[in-house]
Amino acid sequence: MSAGGFDPFRPPMIGSRIWEETMTAAEWCCQCTGQCGRPHAKTNGRCGTLHGTAHRLAVVAADPLATLAEAVTATERLALCESCDAGRRRAAQHTHTTTAAAHAQPELIDLTGDRAA
Ligand SMILES: [Zn+2]
Ligand SMILES: [Zn+2]
Repeated sequence: MSAGGFDPFRPPMIGSRIWEETMTAAEWCCQCTGQCGRPHAKTNGRCGTLHGTAHRLAVVAADPLATLAEAVTATERLALCESCDAGRRRAAQHTHTTTAAAHAQPELIDLTGDRAA
């Protein structure tokens, strides 16, 4: 184990008070509701992984593209298990790429609509 560097699974990274508040609000349970790309259908749409010895939850910014350092100042935070955090980052980066590609195409939806006279 190396000292130094961020460890999102431990309080010192984010400030123990913020970490504990987030964890308490999350009831020490992964708050992923599908952001990672998995439906979590078996657990009513929420991951349900509890913070413990087998799984440790990370306190991260709600914005999946925010860095760990930004999570400290983020207004919204989530408690996520390792696989969900990794999954949602992958998904966010993928969305980011596909959104950029989509922007290259003209807008097909006509938002002007037709007004009833
Ligand atoms: Zn999870
Ligand atoms: Zn998940």
